[in-house]
Amino acid sequence: MIEICALASGSNGNSYYVGNGEEAILVDAGISTKQLLLRMKSRGLDPGRIRAVFLSHEHSDHARGIQVLSKRQAVNIWMSKRTWGSLPVYFRPPYVKFFTPGETVTIGTFRVHTFLKNHDAAEPCSFRISHGDKSVGVFTDIGAPCDRVKNALQECQAAFMESNYDEKMLWEGPYPWPLKQRVASDVGHLSNLQALQLVQEYAHPHLECLFLSHLSQENNTPAMAWSAFEPLHSRMEVKLTSRHEASEVYRLE
Ligand SMILES: [Zn+2]
Ligand SMILES: [Zn+2]
Repeated sequence: MIEICALASGSNGNSYYVGNGEEAILVDAGISTKQLLLRMKSRGLDPGRIRAVFLSHEHSDHARGIQVLSKRQAVNIWMSKRTWGSLPVYFRPPYVKFFTPGETVTIGTFRVHTFLKNHDAAEPCSFRISHGDKSVGVFTDIGAPCDRVKNALQECQAAFMESNYDEKMLWEGPYPWPLKQRVASDVGHLSNLQALQLVQEYAHPHLECLFLSHLSQENNTPAMAWSAFEPLHSRMEVKLTSRHEASEVYRLE
């Protein structure tokens, strides 16, 4: 059994929980530790189960909480060496371990498959976390889908999938022109439509649950992301995530 939950998701803070009832892995800790622990408890998830935190890249919406969380829970933060090199000193955790992108790391009964993604950070990575014969993908902050993410998606029964912006809202919205270009570029973020196409083309037939993740506050709404995925509603559970509270806990049996 795998339990998954988006503790925080959006352009201003991300943290994703993957556990098996006894041990858990977090991907990113981009909110305060106080908030993160409160949100875990609000969903009945015991912070004492956290065995490792994997950091996808150094941007503050993913790294803001890692220093305090590492200290408070005495937990290792795993990251690539170039991510460490680009991490501001005030985010650097006391307990750190390194992986080489492409490496699979074993944490208890979990295997964490790490791979590079297209995003404007030093050495940004996505993760597929497997336990037994099930896999969960954490796929956010992707400018353009590469073969690595397509292959990983084909292995997943559940995934946190970036659905960052609605194209019309982005181009007609308040962002300055260079920022619009950055978001839409191959090293920015996936739009609702790009994410839908990725899932439609590459999802495993047994993908049963998709959490729409990392929604932009300015350039998307939960309702728009939700309706963009209408074509998949009959095929799988499509769920929304929030910047304000933890999502429901979904169980892969
Ligand atoms: Zn980022
Ligand atoms: Zn981000």
